[in-house]
Amino acid sequence: MARATDLAPRLDGLVRLVAAEFVAEVCSVYVMRPGEILELVATEGLRPEAVHRTRLRVGEGIVGTAAAEARPLNLPDAQNHPAFAYRPETGEEPFASMLAVPVLRGAEVLGVIAVQNRAPRRYAEDEVEALETVGMLLAEMLHGARSASAEVALSLPGSMARHFEGVGLTPGIVMGPVLRHGRRAAPRAVLAEDPEAELRRLTAATEAMQRAVDALLEGPARAAGQEPREVLEAYRLIAADQGWLGRIAAVVRDGLTAEAAVERVLAELRARMRQVADPYLRERLADIEDLAGRLIDHLGGTAPEPAQGEGFILIARRVGPAELLDYHARGLAGLVLEEGSPTAHATIIARALAVPLLAGCRGATDSAVPGEHAVLDADEGRLVLRPDAEIVAGYTAALAARAARRATEAGYRDVEPRTRDGVRLTVMINAGLLMDLPQLAETGADGIGLFRTEIAWLARGGLPELETEEALYRDVLAAAGDKPVIFRTIDLGGDKLLPGFSHAEEENPALGWRSLRIGLDRPAMLRRQLRAMLAAAAGRRLLVMFPMVTTVEELRAAKSLLEAERRAAERRGAAPAEVRAGAMLEVPALVWQLPALLEEAAFLSIGSNDLTQFLFAADRGNPRLAGRYDFLSAPVLDLLEQVGAAAAAAGVPVGLCGEAAARPLEALAVFGVGIDQVSVPAAAVPAVKAMVRSLDLAAFRTFLANLRRSARGGASLRADIAAYARDHGIATE
Ligand code: PEP
Ligand code: MG
Repeated sequence: MARATDLAPRLDGLVRLVAAEFVAEVCSVYVMRPGEILELVATEGLRPEAVHRTRLRVGEGIVGTAAAEARPLNLPDAQNHPAFAYRPETGEEPFASMLAVPVLRGAEVLGVIAVQNRAPRRYAEDEVEALETVGMLLAEMLHGARSASAEVALSLPGSMARHFEGVGLTPGIVMGPVLRHGRRAAPRAVLAEDPEAELRRLTAATEAMQRAVDALLEGPARAAGQEPREVLEAYRLIAADQGWLGRIAAVVRDGLTAEAAVERVLAELRARMRQVADPYLRERLADIEDLAGRLIDHLGGTAPEPAQGEGFILIARRVGPAELLDYHARGLAGLVLEEGSPTAHATIIARALAVPLLAGCRGATDSAVPGEHAVLDADEGRLVLRPDAEIVAGYTAALAARAARRATEAGYRDVEPRTRDGVRLTVMINAGLLMDLPQLAETGADGIGLFRTEIAWLARGGLPELETEEALYRDVLAAAGDKPVIFRTIDLGGDKLLPGFSHAEEENPALGWRSLRIGLDRPAMLRRQLRAMLAAAAGRRLLVMFPMVTTVEELRAAKSLLEAERRAAERRGAAPAEVRAGAMLEVPALVWQLPALLEEAAFLSIGSNDLTQFLFAADRGNPRLAGRYDFLSAPVLDLLEQVGAAAAAAGVPVGLCGEAAARPLEALAVFGVGIDQVSVPAAAVPAVKAMVRSLDLAAFRTFLANLRRSARGGASLRADIAAYARDHGIATE
């Protein structure tokens, strides 16, 4: 069975052999690529430059037709055949006849093999059979190569477009040339002749590396906001850490060159880390890998690469925070990682720099060719290497439309979300980092409806100091001015694991020890956070919200902790003027406790992400379930209406937060069932406001009530609501 790496020369050998055996001037092999495209990968007789350039869609040309119909085409006068597609780069004008045979493995077409002759001739029956036999052999070769290395493309780099799916961790779309992030060459010498001299070289390089890191962190890190700064400070400490640096020195003393010692210590660390599940420690390894690379650069006397030019997309297995700052200074426009997670240091920095980031693109580094073009769509979770013209045209148009829309949306900043029939609705933003705060003014939103306090903890990689936390909340309140801010107490657990905090392995973390459950089991921790909030809001109004409340008793317990801290603050003479405690409605069980809940809660906020996941028993992070159940269906809308009506009757304000109302159509339905307040990601505010401004709410409510009455089971009502919006000029696009 062919190994992937051997494939290209073997194909070259094959086409030469077949051309000779068939006495044909041309023999070519085309391989099926993703997207049903046949790419010329080997030829005897056509121009070599056409290899990896000539591509045909299935059904296009003689080759494409043979693939589409999965049968041989035997044509004495191929160029006058109606399906013939002329490809000038191949230089195939002189060849009149052609025999194209599909390469089949079972029912799957893996490619096409074709022979061509100058003279017009019909190939004999036994020639067709012989080429079909070659096709069978070729099928085994291609299949073997594919399973050996996942993708034939690995062994056949070329001009074909390649598509990758990933998770967008920072939104945005960019197009530009690709830059591949480092694979270090193996050190040239492993054994040192003079260990003492080698130690001096190591010391000098270490100091140079530390100075360069200091200089780097002075610049963009200062401007990037609090969380990235903390990440970078931690990085600086590792750059000076005697643990791993001392181990390198010890290995040099044993006789290795400094470069080889760095690699050896890294290998040891990697081996140890493989057994460690803690994300915090794994991030430390990423930092050390980053610093080790710098150290090797300095040992070789090479500063990091010079400027690359504007607007490139960096593709890497993983990248360290300082490296990312380096690349940013050199014109980084987008980032693609094979690894990466929402809380990785690189992610936090990318977010601070507003660089679109797509993570989880396995195989992208190997497929990327530096300098070639790529489209990075972090909004849709997609990377296209070597995009063809249609994709580029599509994205160019989409980006232009988006820019135009942004310009229009900026016009919504000073516009109130008031419906055409005069109802003033409330549109707030979700936030979690200091750098989110300017968006409040930029969008003209009504306040912060959800401040996710755990994000700063996660970014920091641990529990913050009381003063740090208080300062953050103070900054948030200052930025909000008169507008309300709803602080949510820490919501850890589930997918939000705090490094260093002992989260036991759980079978179902989303249903596990998380959120308020942790807070009530670790009351000292929750009280400390409440203390920071109370202190930050001294003299003002404080809105505190508890997440994942499952029973009213839990809310009571949380409120009593808050009250104890409030009294303590009062004794210190620094209590807020008013403290209001609300509950998130994320667990369906609360719906059956509404009367008691509405007596305890000063306000309610429906957490649309978790509520939907629990309602449908469908993991919110599982892409396979993403389109399966619709928020716009009777089970969700009936529940929202019930909660909204009960809260209104009790005089308790209720809003909806999370991501659901970020789409104008969903926001429309939420308002339609009587919830008057939403909190959405800031980017969604202009579109939601635009929708509200074009809405006759009373008329829509009547329509929606009728529609829900006629709904059957849990079927999606999306198409009907969208049609109504279209027919009534409601802006939901
Ligand atoms: C939600 O579940 O809708 C919510 C706002 O909380 P989270 O931070 O879990 O998304
Ligand atoms: Mg939630």
